[in-house]
Amino acid sequence: MMRAKIGSTVTVELPYSEACMHMRVAGKTMEVLVLQNGAQLFDSDGKEFSFPITHGEAGIIAEPADCLHSWVAGMMVVAEEDLDTVAAIRPVECEKCEATYPRSITL
Ligand SMILES: [Zn+2]
Repeated sequence: MMRAKIGSTVTVELPYSEACMHMRVAGKTMEVLVLQNGAQLFDSDGKEFSFPITHGEAGIIAEPADCLHSWVAGMMVVAEEDLDTVAAIRPVECEKCEATYPRSITL
């Protein structure tokens, strides 16, 4: 298993997992884009190959991206200086990596 950050593209020698065997790519070396919830393989022409498979099936352990976070509360974009105020009343999430802003407990 190879560690790779979500959002990055890595070159992987694909394992003999069920999905890779089924797609006849087991043992082949391919470019793989690490998505939040899966891995998209690319053929040698740089075209998407089949549908995304799971990280494990592609031989990858996904790690969080180095994200600069763009915080949103629902549809509302939250400015840096308002984060604590908004997070106290509503859940604030990053729209890129799905991290949640730590809520400060106000008594
Ligand atoms: Zn983020």
